[in-house]
Amino acid sequence: MSVLTILRHAFQNKTIAFYCYNAYLKTAACGKDMHETSIAQNIIAIVQETLKEQPASASSVKTVRVVIGEMIAVVPELLHHAYDSLVSNTQLEQSRLEISIIPISAHCLSCDYTFGLKEFDFSCPGCHSSNIEVQTGNEFFIKEIEVES
Ligand SMILES: [Zn+2]
Repeated sequence: MSVLTILRHAFQNKTIAFYCYNAYLKTAACGKDMHETSIAQNIIAIVQETLKEQPASASSVKTVRVVIGEMIAVVPELLHHAYDSLVSNTQLEQSRLEISIIPISAHCLSCDYTFGLKEFDFSCPGCHSSNIEVQTGNEFFIKEIEVES
């Protein structure tokens, strides 16, 4: 068993994901399933591309670890479901998707307060300023691919 570590490998359709996220905030309906399906498609495409660069012995994928910030507004159950249905009859068929969700935290530029963001309320709980900088929660990358070799 060997582990391929992919550092900060950006998803290809980050803009689509963010578009969906914005639409989600506005209308609370962006075909949520589609959001997760397109993310799952990207994960699978990146894993397959990555495997092509590996020695032929790296054949069967065991685990794919992804890191996704809360800002991306992914529903883990939907992503698991989309992933599992898309990997059948591929090299990833036996693989398990591990999702780490990173909570949103922000820093207030007006009063220097650092806080966790709740329910997408983009204002400082200390001074109510909206002059804030998001520090975590934007993450969106594949961290590791575990393969059997
Ligand atoms: Zn503040």
